[in-house]
Amino acid sequence: MIKGHREDRDTLRRNMVHSQIVARGIKDKKVIEAMIRVPREILADTDDPAAAFYDGPLTIGYGQTISQPYIVAYMTEQLELSGNEKVLEIGTGSGYQSAVLAELAREVYSVEIIEELSRAARSRLADLGYKNIHCRCGDGASGWPEEAPFDAIIITAAPTEIPWSIASQLTEAGRMILPVGDSIQQLQRVTRSEDGFRVEDLIGVRFVPMTGGSRETEL
Ligand code: SAH
Repeated sequence: MIKGHREDRDTLRRNMVHSQIVARGIKDKKVIEAMIRVPREILADTDDPAAAFYDGPLTIGYGQTISQPYIVAYMTEQLELSGNEKVLEIGTGSGYQSAVLAELAREVYSVEIIEELSRAARSRLADLGYKNIHCRCGDGASGWPEEAPFDAIIITAAPTEIPWSIASQLTEAGRMILPVGDSIQQLQRVTRSEDGFRVEDLIGVRFVPMTGGSRETEL
């Protein structure tokens, strides 16, 4: 965590949100406020402010990364949260995205396949006082069927194709945002309605691959 005054860190965070997120067109006020509040420097576990607020992805160990702040804001905005949703996240990682979601929704369920990352995120989120984030360590390639349905789902590791078993855990007006592909990836939004699923292509992205799946590794 960055040493020094809390006010300094708050200012750095506010500057990051304005220069990287608002300047690039994110408009949802609640998303902007949540990203000003959530202490990225604590969840990213770095004492280097240049790293915590860097305009790009950040390494968190075990070959994994937290997304660029702008991508976190963009994906969160696409979920159109109004405050009462039950949300599923696949890929807890540092817990940063989970915390942003927890500020904007009722309950967050987050699955992480790497035990050390899951444990570290869980403990930091608890220290920060988040009571509406439920973490599970295991393979999220099939979602979290016991807790379904979800109003919104976010996948933060890239599967090669849309995982329909996870999409089927959406409520009827639910939406899911995820990166899809191998080396070339597309952010996609899947919206469920009574007529079925609609898929929209958004922007090009680069995420770590989703692991697990057929191996069904339960840690
Ligand atoms: N949302 C995270 C980003 C983490 S990077 C954050 O804000 O920090 C993607 C994460 O997905 C990694 O931690 C990786 O271990 C995890 N992951 C990859 N495949 C997974 C799977 N099948 N189930 C659960 N987590 C998975």
